[in-house]
Amino acid sequence: MHFLGDTYRPPFEEKSLLIPVSAGCSHNRCKFCNLYGETEFQVNPLEVIEEDINSVAKYRTLYKRVFLVGGDPFTLPFESLKFIAETINEKLPRIESIGCHASIMNVMAKTPEQLQELSELGFDGINIGLETGLDAVLDYMDKGYTSAEAKEALLNLNDARISYNLNLVTGLGGPELSMENADASAELLNEVQPKLVMVAPLHMEPGAELEKMEETGEFTQCTLGQIIDEQIRVLQRSELEDTIYFGMQSVNPIRTNGTLNADKEYLIKELEAGRSRFPEHQLNEPIRWFPPKVKLNATRTM
Ligand code: SF4
Repeated sequence: MHFLGDTYRPPFEEKSLLIPVSAGCSHNRCKFCNLYGETEFQVNPLEVIEEDINSVAKYRTLYKRVFLVGGDPFTLPFESLKFIAETINEKLPRIESIGCHASIMNVMAKTPEQLQELSELGFDGINIGLETGLDAVLDYMDKGYTSAEAKEALLNLNDARISYNLNLVTGLGGPELSMENADASAELLNEVQPKLVMVAPLHMEPGAELEKMEETGEFTQCTLGQIIDEQIRVLQRSELEDTIYFGMQSVNPIRTNGTLNADKEYLIKELEAGRSRFPEHQLNEPIRWFPPKVKLNATRTM
């Protein structure tokens, strides 16, 4: 397997076959992110990706899903994604669906017809870092799209029947925009009805531009209490028909999950109870820790 660099896969892809496609992020400009550090965006040649798929096909694998590895493999041109999906379908006939990380911009670059074709070839359950629905924060953090563009891209995915998971970052607007951030994010969720929403607090990544902006006083972090309040507000404003709510990452101060709206009141109570267990001085401080990066051992996927 030709893994190119650090590998991050969503926690719910633990049973998926990982096929390396790219490394780094094609955007790599978000101020709060230093996930890929100095790693330049690069893509494995299609012959190499085909070789990796062929190498898996030699074994009688029981995998039912492929997760294409890399910051945002969905940035590849339509024809390349089509080739990868067709190769997987031909060589690994047990595979039922294909996922990957994707950005809103990757989706915007595909026509509705191309999305439809990718859906028919098996693309489903793609993972998108939306982060917020608030334009002021999207712009400030240099996410590269507006909330209207995000809505259009996500509705195009809905039309193509490609389901998606959205990541939200609470605290991304700082204390002043905290509630506005929650309201705009919930509004966008309500409009697009994602399959899953993964909510995590802003955690200052070492080396990220935002870290320097905090040091110079240009950006102020929310306190732990404000982060939890924002998370509760997102839930209060959510009107979702059948969306998995996933707040179980290592960075979540209170770990919760459920289905929205069915578990809405339960989740709010969990967060309120969790909040009440923190001492006051901690609630009044920003979150000041960062989990260690875990490197995937490429040999363990085969
Ligand atoms: S948040 Fe996502 S899109 Fe932005 S730089 Fe990080 S990996 Fe790239």
